[in-house]
Amino acid sequence: MHSLCVYCGSRVGADPLYEQTAARLGQAIAARGMTMVYGGGSVGLMNITADAALAAGARVVGVTTELLMHREVGHSGLNELHVVQTMHQRKKMMADFADGFVALPGGLGTLEELFEVWTWRQLGYHNKPLGLLNVQGYYDGLLDFLSQTHEQEFVRPDVLGLLLVDDDPDRLLERMGGAQPVSEDPWWSMRETI
Ligand code: AMP
Repeated sequence: MHSLCVYCGSRVGADPLYEQTAARLGQAIAARGMTMVYGGGSVGLMNITADAALAAGARVVGVTTELLMHREVGHSGLNELHVVQTMHQRKKMMADFADGFVALPGGLGTLEELFEVWTWRQLGYHNKPLGLLNVQGYYDGLLDFLSQTHEQEFVRPDVLGLLLVDDDPDRLLERMGGAQPVSEDPWWSMRETI
């Protein structure tokens, strides 16, 4: 992976560990010589990840819309900031620029973006690795529900296994670098035994 798209909250969340992990992800991106692609804002975990990546020497590319330039305040220190018209153009450009995707804790926007690239992969529109940073068990409830989608035979297990889940940024990027279509130790099979 040469570039990584990061989806994360436009807020920092309730637990300081979210901010710490966002900063560690930015540093891990820089340590691998990768470019970070993200929504271009200077708010929340988006800002913390971007600032940490920049400070550690990474190239950071933002993609935002005219409307969000004001609401999320476009980050002025990026190597590139693309301002497009629509959210669809924004998400497509972010996805096209990236060789892989990671979601940190976040809100509805983060969830929507993650699920979109996951469904695009399911349909074969791309073959890029997908990772979820499950910091402090933030996504446990969602992962429980996703287990049900397989148990109730709406989602194939190999599609669930496409999402690599970890709580450590370095380890997650390591695993994504060698990701196979079906992970050997998928979170959904472990959770079935809980
Ligand atoms: P959030 O996780 O809701 O804090 O939002 C994180 C990022 O996702 C922000 O840059 C939002 O502008 C963006 N976002 C919010 N809603 C959507 C959406 N429907 N589609 C794509 N991105 C969104």
